Amino acid sequence: MIPRSADYEVKLTPDHESLRHTVRDFAEKEIRPVAFDIDRNNKIPRDLLHRIAGVGLTAINYKEEYGGLGGDLLSMVIALEEVARVSAACSTVFVASHLVSEPLNEWASEEQKKRFLVPMVSGEKFGAHAMTEPGAGSDVAGIKSTAKLHGTHWEINGRKTFITNGEIADLYLVFARTSPPPSSRERHKGLSAFIVERGTEGFQVGNHIETTGLRGSQPSELILDHVKVPQDNLIGKEGDGFYIGVKTYDRGRVDVSAQGVGIAQAAYEAAISYAQTRISFDKPLIDFQQVQYKLAEMAMGLHTARLLTYWAASLKDQGKEFVKAASIAKVTATETAEKLSLLAMMIHGGYGVATEYPVERYLRDSQIIKTYEGTNDIQRLTIAKQLIKELKD
Ligand SMILES: Cc1cc2nc3c(=O)[nH]c(=O)nc-3n(C[C@H](O)[C@H](O)[C@H](O)COP(=O)(O)OP(=O)(O)OC[C@H]3O[C@@H](n4cnc5c(N)ncnc54)[C@H](O)[C@@H]3O)c2cc1C
Repeated sequence: MIPRSADYEVKLTPDHESLRHTVRDFAEKEIRPVAFDIDRNNKIPRDLLHRIAGVGLTAINYKEEYGGLGGDLLSMVIALEEVARVSAACSTVFVASHLVSEPLNEWASEEQKKRFLVPMVSGEKFGAHAMTEPGAGSDVAGIKSTAKLHGTHWEINGRKTFITNGEIADLYLVFARTSPPPSSRERHKGLSAFIVERGTEGFQVGNHIETTGLRGSQPSELILDHVKVPQDNLIGKEGDGFYIGVKTYDRGRVDVSAQGVGIAQAAYEAAISYAQTRISFDKPLIDFQQVQYKLAEMAMGLHTARLLTYWAASLKDQGKEFVKAASIAKVTATETAEKLSLLAMMIHGGYGVATEYPVERYLRDSQIIKTYEGTNDIQRLTIAKQLIKELKD
């Protein structure tokens, strides 16, 4: 309960700063010119995704033996923040793909890693994490998809929805029930995770879901109709699916926090720049105290969100307990992204709601990061659960 100073250590090195410059330069040159069209057309060019992978977005956290760069989570956070600052939609493709590469890294066998993880780390293949169903979102244990073992194959049946990268992925991590829950209090038991490759018979990408924000990252429905996958496509042990999902989201929330910081940074920069150049009553907006007050609020939120996000990543990098920190960072960073987008819109006056300016996009994007990988309501529950656990320990 009493905080230890060491638990607040965030070690940023010159390598982190150099990575930030590399990704920022890349994002300015390669993503900025198409960010508006990505949102308007709701499509990210595939070759751009491969080029983003080329600056390390698929490789940073993985060992060199799998083609990775052997970097820490803090590095990934900085890279995602810089991509999200220019296009949160582009960063989402990688955040969602990590929800496949991370569990492969943690729970797949060496043979599975060679087949599935290596092409993901190189950026050749993208992943989609298929947990949510029409009847089960926050309540992961309520999923109804099933998988049954028939000789050497699993047969999977079910329907998934809101699956980011559904349309573009090559590898799908599909969660399904392999045995009934032993009791009503143990609904989380009996779920398992499988890799389904694009093109497998009976597997179909269903409707594309139009969303207000993160346009381009394309959530879709998935239909699994008697899909047969080899026995060896089971990831981890049979029955470990809930644990694999939940542990994956613990880490994934740090990625989402980084997206929040990136959006908040973009809103802050837009507001500062507009306040300096827009003349009203013969003065730039920044000369008015009410505008200064809003900018101060924005700076406070931005630095808080960034520090909490780096803190959560650093705890994970040091092998310390980071689940509560990840939830605190996720809520703070995503709600800061929303708040700063609204303040930036206010500072832009009428232009704040004009779609030719990017600030209204930041607000739309912020709504989704508050929702996925566990809504912020669920994060508050997680924080409270951890607090109560700490009281008992
Ligand atoms: C754009 C987008 C992309 C997504 N990408 C993916 C993906 O790639 N893979 C995937 O599997 N899923 C994905 N999702 C699904 C996402 O994780 C779920 O939408 C989210 O978990 C919430 O589930 P739900 O929509 O069913 O809402 P519900 O669970 O029905 O919740 C509805 C409301 O009730 C609240 N609520 C629910 N239960 C509780 C509770 N116990 N206590 C307090 N409040 C509660 C929630 O906070 C929310 O406000 C995506 C969603 C979106 C919008």
